[in-house]
Amino acid sequence: MEDYPRTVLELEDRFPTEEACREYLVRLRWPDGFACPECGNVGGWPATRGRIICAACRYEASVTAGTIFQDTHKPLRMWFRAIWHVTSQKNGASAVSLQQVLGLGSYLTAWTWLHKLRRAMVRPGRDRLRGRVEVDETYVGGQEPGGKGRRRGKKSLVVIAAEEDGRGIGRIRLARIDRASRDCLHAFIQSAIEPGSVVHTDGLPAYRGLEGIGYRHESSVLLGQSSDAACKFLPRVHRVASLLKRWLLGTHQGAVRPKHLDYYLDEFTFRFNRRTSASRGKLFYRLMQQATQIEPAPYHSIVGGRPV
Ligand SMILES: [Zn+2]
Repeated sequence: MEDYPRTVLELEDRFPTEEACREYLVRLRWPDGFACPECGNVGGWPATRGRIICAACRYEASVTAGTIFQDTHKPLRMWFRAIWHVTSQKNGASAVSLQQVLGLGSYLTAWTWLHKLRRAMVRPGRDRLRGRVEVDETYVGGQEPGGKGRRRGKKSLVVIAAEEDGRGIGRIRLARIDRASRDCLHAFIQSAIEPGSVVHTDGLPAYRGLEGIGYRHESSVLLGQSSDAACKFLPRVHRVASLLKRWLLGTHQGAVRPKHLDYYLDEFTFRFNRRTSASRGKLFYRLMQQATQIEPAPYHSIVGGRPV
């Protein structure tokens, strides 16, 4: 039973207390009833501060342990508002807007929260793409904040997979790769696409050998042709590439450091794959659900172990 607020008023009414937030998380995390993380027994009693005591071994489980809410010093109500804000903005939220909406004293806190939420946008063990899938690479970025205005930074190579859905685009997967080598591209395809699918690429030799790892491979050789021709052969990945670039420029002013690009790709994918979901509440629900299923991302892992 998918249960979520439809409007900001419903959000306020629904989650007026920490207690209400915790109850919601309990239902999302254990939809079939509490299962003890210690002994596996199903069934327990609610205790104070959202803890649940296992009926068999008396282990005290916390609903936030192991989720992005673990060790937070801020109220869950604030997190719920943050998730509402992030999912209700059509093109995504910036750290500045999140800071303003929540009245956070620190920009860094807002920035860290956004990155934690982006991490939760990728569902653990998510389904791979299937059917006919276009794959191609593109360069993004190249601008970094710093000093006077923007300086030229390194461009990042991003590989895109897009399902064909009639004449339109189904689901997508994106990943940053070091180089367009056979190892990188094959590893991406295996993680993103179900074996047995048809993989449609250009004539890049690095794509050769896909049959050997369980795919049907269709390549459109584009030697000596213009990039317009590439758009015609692989229209979906090119459409996704241009939307991605526009989104990075529009929402984030292109100011994405290569080492953080993965998080932005996750957010773009989350939004794109749910673009037909009419209800903002449903996005809220999905992100909330995924946020209760993942490991916590401590601040250090987000900035690459380097405190700033
Ligand atoms: Zn137990």
